[in-house]
Formats: sequence, C-alpha cells, structure tokens
Amino acid sequence: MVIATTNPATGETLKTFQPAADTEVEIAIGRAYSRWKSYRTTDFTQRSTWMRASSDLLDTETADVARLMTTEMGKTVDAARAEISKCVRALNYYADHAEQLLADELVDAQSVGADRAYARYEPLGPTLAVMPWNFPLWQVIRFAAPALMAANVVLLKHASNVPQTAMYLEDLFRRGGFPDGCFQTLLITSAQVESVLRDPRIAAATLTGSELAGRSVAAICGDEVKRTVLELGGSDPFVVMPSAELDRAVDAAVTSRVQNNGQTCIAAKRFIVHTDVYDAFTNAFVTKMRALRVGDPLNSDTQVGPLATEQNRLDVDALVTDAIERGAQVLCGGGLPDGRGWFYPPTVLANITPQMRVYAEEAFGPVAAVYRVRDIDEAIEVANATPFGLGSNAWTTAASEQKRFIHELEAGQVFINGMTGSYNELPFGGTKRSGYGRELSGHGIREFCNLKTVWIG
Ligand code: NAP
Repeated sequence: MVIATTNPATGETLKTFQPAADTEVEIAIGRAYSRWKSYRTTDFTQRSTWMRASSDLLDTETADVARLMTTEMGKTVDAARAEISKCVRALNYYADHAEQLLADELVDAQSVGADRAYARYEPLGPTLAVMPWNFPLWQVIRFAAPALMAANVVLLKHASNVPQTAMYLEDLFRRGGFPDGCFQTLLITSAQVESVLRDPRIAAATLTGSELAGRSVAAICGDEVKRTVLELGGSDPFVVMPSAELDRAVDAAVTSRVQNNGQTCIAAKRFIVHTDVYDAFTNAFVTKMRALRVGDPLNSDTQVGPLATEQNRLDVDALVTDAIERGAQVLCGGGLPDGRGWFYPPTVLANITPQMRVYAEEAFGPVAAVYRVRDIDEAIEVANATPFGLGSNAWTTAASEQKRFIHELEAGQVFINGMTGSYNELPFGGTKRSGYGRELSGHGIREFCNLKTVWIG
C-alpha cells in the first residue's frame, strides 16, 4: 500500500511519502535503544511532566488536528474532536496514575524466608506499535501513554493512509519534552515490519488491526520469543430482551453501529432481538438509520462520513451483496452510491443465515445485521456464534438475564444497558480471534513490563 494522504470524501490524493529506507530504520532503532537506556532511569515525576505538557499541546491544537484526521480518514470532524479529547484525558490519566499502578507488590516476607520480598514492574524496552487508521490518534495514545509512563520507548508503524497524523504524534511528544528517541514514527510499509520485529533491540510489539496482520506479527514475535498484545477485529452482539428500555436501546444501537462511519472494532454489528420486541425495535432502528445525514465529514451537521479507503468500501459492499444474493432482506440502504468519495449508506439487513459471509465476518462499515430469536438461550447461542470475542452488549432489566449474559457471552467485555465503550479505568481487549492482552487501566500499563521478583535475605 502506498503511504499517502488521500481524502476519502473526494478520492483525491493530497500527499504521498517515500517509505523509510532500511538504513533510516536502522538509525531509528539504534536511537530508540540508546535513548531507552537513559530514559528508563527517569522518574515518574519527570515523565508525568512531559506527558501533561503533551496533553496540553494536543488540547490546544484540537481544531487543526481534528481537520487533519478528517482529511486523512474521513471521520466526521465532531468525532475527531471527541477522539482528541479522549486522548487528552488518557495522557493525563497515565500521568496521574502510572506510579501507583506500577507500585511494588509486597508479599509477606516471613512466609518466603526473606527479610523483604516483593515484585517490581520494570520496562521491557523499545516496543513497536503497529496501528490502524480508524482511530488514528486514540489507538496510538492508548498504547503510548502507558508505555512511555512505564519507561518504555515507542516506535510507531502507523497505517499507510494516515502518515501526517503519524508524524504529528512524534512531533507532539517531542514538543511535550520527551527526549529524542522516546517516540519515533517510522514511515514504513507492512512488508518492512518483520525486520524491525526481528531486531534484537526491539523488545516487544503491539498490534491493533485485522486478524491477518495480527497473526503475522504474533507468529514472528512467537519465533523471536517477544511479548505481544493483539487488538483485532470484532463483530459484537447487541442483544435486546423484552424488558429493555427500547428507546434507549434503539439510540445506542444506531450510535454504536454508525460511530466513526461504521468503522469501530467494538461497534455493535449483530443485533439479536427477542421476538416479542423484534418488530418494535427493528422498525424504530431502521427509521433512525435511514434518517442519518451522510455527507461531507468536515460539515458539523454530518452524522456519517465516507469509509476510509476505497478497498474498505468494496469489502463492505461485497459482504452486503453476498448476503442479498443468498436471500437477506434489505430493510434500508445497501449498494454503492454514485458520486465521488467512498460513501456507503447506513444499511440494515434481516433474514441472515449462517451461509452468508456477514454471519461470521466483520462488517467494517455502517451495516447492521438483525436477528430474531425466541428466547435467551437462542440469543446467547447466536451472540457466541462468531469467531470474534471483543465486546458485547445486552439490554435487559431482569437481574437473572443480566447474570446469564455476564457469565455466558464470550467476549473481552460485556456492557449491560449501555453502549460498549472504552474507559481509562477499565481493561480493554478481546478473546477468541479478537486477540489477547489488555490495554488501558493498570492491566494495560503492566502488559509491557517485566515483573521482577525481588527477594532479600
Ligand atoms: P490492517 O490492515 O490489519 O492494518 C492495521 C495495521 O497493520 C496497519 O498499520 C497496517 O499497515 C499493518 N499491517 C497490515 N498487514 C500487516 C502485516 N502483514 N504485517 C505487519 N503489519 C501489517 O487493519 P485495517 O483493516 O486497516 O483496520 C481495521 C481492523 O482493525 C478491523 O478488523 C478492526 O476491527 C480492527 N481494530 C481493532 C481494534 C481493537 O481494539 N481490537 C481497534 C481498532 C481496529 P498498512 O496500512 O501499511 O497496510
């Protein structure tokens, strides 16, 4: 894939970039490694100061950065602003809490025959972050803020369609005060990732993206015995039971499905509705999906902008076409619109069967699949009938049903009566083909630490 900024609203390529030569990559890795040796001796107070300064800069520059993100990957400018504000909070969260989250864990020394014994968290070293375009700032920050506060240094290989956002990030942390080499952006292709991963100075890797990319990075790191975190795709279930507050459920369903123009890993993608409320839910859901304003993402009236890449739109349309050909009912949307830009209409499909690709694959665009189920057993069965296990969402006020969803949904997270989201305070990640490891909270910052046992006699 060419490294370039191409405006998804027009299809116009605005700027292209040469991938870094192997010699430049070598210099960057060397810089990261030598910087890490000194950076790891800095204290939390110093790192917090740089982190807060970076956060303040980002906050001040919100308008320009939001416009850049919208131009590179098509999210609405309001969504871009919201993403930036979330990043500002995450930077501050780790500036404030890292020291406490990484505090030594003391054990009862007597029981291990020591005068003193504890476990201490130490940084692993230079870590490669391979990141996707869908939340081009947030995906990076949610890894980089804890990683830097834990005294690791970061090399970023961002998606090829967001190079200017990637370069902004390096610039941001440098201006925030982080010493040269703490955070570097490598403008490299995915084919160049392997040699970086195999470099002995690279200690670990994190990847947010597709299963295919995750499998490749994990296989290489497995071969090298290096730690990885994988945040991969999802096809989250959204279950609606008869006791649900239907209006709230419908609003959350629409927001979840179309946020970020339908390109969110933890978006609700499969709507599994009890037969008693199926018609009421589906009618209201379709009415709201149909009424969404699709258009120029720089216009703040727009609710759904274009998909990020031409290929992504083709992939989404292929899933919809396959479903229609195999008998799915189109309740709204469907089909490629005329005109420039990579727009796709909010679409709702019903009568989905396991033979259709959309039953098991992720629809990474504003396409919802609605299922009618007769009871909670069937709801859980359909919800779990996916290779993914990222988020999950259930709407019911019955305590016994809530308990069953919490226990039985196969996912990294379950949200009851509220939209699935990510929070600094809560771990985020998946199970099954959605990956492993956790980001955010104390669990996220500890992923890239060596937990060293200390025993003093
Ligand atoms: P992608 O193609 O896997 O790209 C993600 C990143 O991986 C990009 O930087 C890409 O570089 C790189 N990459 C691709 N193939 C690679 C390979 N073989 N080796 C090394 N690096 C490789 O993912 P996408 O389709 O753009 O992103 C959407 C996917 O990400 C969806 O499945 C979505 O659900 C998932 N996602 C998951 C989370 C989560 O937290 N679980 C969050 C957001 C998105 P190039 O751009 O140069 O190809």
